Amino acid sequence: AKAPVRVAVTGAAGQIGYALLFRIASGEMLGKDQPVILQMLELPMEKAQQALKGVMMELEDCAFPLLAGMVGTDDPRVAFKDADYALLVGARPRGPGMERKDLLMENAKIFIEQGKALNDVAARNIKVLVVGNPANTNAYIAMKSAPSLPKENFTAMLRLDHNRALSQLATKTGKPVDSIEKMVVWGNHSPTMYPDYRFTTIAGQAAPALVNDEAWYKNEYIPKVGKRGAAIIEARGLSSAASAANAAIDHMRDWALGTNGKWVTMGIPSDGSYGIPQDVIYGVPVTCANGKYERITGLEIDAFSREKMDFTLNELKEEQDGVKALLG
Ligand code: NDP
Repeated sequence: AKAPVRVAVTGAAGQIGYALLFRIASGEMLGKDQPVILQMLELPMEKAQQALKGVMMELEDCAFPLLAGMVGTDDPRVAFKDADYALLVGARPRGPGMERKDLLMENAKIFIEQGKALNDVAARNIKVLVVGNPANTNAYIAMKSAPSLPKENFTAMLRLDHNRALSQLATKTGKPVDSIEKMVVWGNHSPTMYPDYRFTTIAGQAAPALVNDEAWYKNEYIPKVGKRGAAIIEARGLSSAASAANAAIDHMRDWALGTNGKWVTMGIPSDGSYGIPQDVIYGVPVTCANGKYERITGLEIDAFSREKMDFTLNELKEEQDGVKALLG
């Protein structure tokens, strides 16, 4: 039997946490043969800690064979101790009257502290996925606050955008979702991200030719994928949680276990390619194998794409500028 691995989850008592933890414990993320120890972080407030206790009781009641242990805590240094994986879900939501800038600063403080804790106590080959928004910038902050960990260990979740892009295209063409390959979603996990279907194939056929409706692609598809989160809040009265948790599982599973050559989108620190400055955490196409991701290189960027990619990049640059002072 395999030795258990340690999986840290922050914001464990939140709604994404509730949709995520049970699936990790059942083996859907790391495989049905991989025991896990869950190390769950919540805010120190009584209400959050009580809610976390309740979630842990339910995890217990599932009697998951793969759940080899559990820790619930309000201390990042306990949650991240020797962690092999970290899913950073907890983040400060935007409150009434809060400016985007205030949100950025509040989250910067959280992710500086968590980055430092990861730096000091996590396994050196930890895989970190940031889900809490603004996810790309939070991942950037954690990475910059953890100088002794390799930069490539820090990623942000673009997978929900990627999955939304697949599903909408499957619906439009009437083809099964798993017949679609080589989807790309560039940039920030925000409505500015750019779902790019120029390289996409559907059952082997080029997607743009099959769809044959550029007006639909530009005027309906791109905005629909970008604004899907808002549409779900509108419909459900709550933000998406199960689909966000599902995307987090997909992201980590593929990173750990590989994609068999399939392209997926991950937010990763830029190596300078595609005109994206070094270290910006930006959604790009990758394949994964042997526990590592590798970006797809050499894709041609046309004028329309350049404009879209720069637009989402500029938003990320603004976010980074907003937190520069705190990072020193
Ligand atoms: P959720 O579990 O619904 O969301 C958590 C975070 O994920 C938010 O930042 C949310 O962003 C983000 N997110 C990213 N992608 C998506 C998506 N597609 N759909 C929805 N959300 C997405 O929030 P809850 O308020 O239910 O739970 C958060 C928990 O985190 C609380 O229990 C809180 O106590 C805890 N917390 C823990 C911290 C810690 O561990 N140190 C720090 C701060 C909070 P958005 O706000 O934009 O929806």
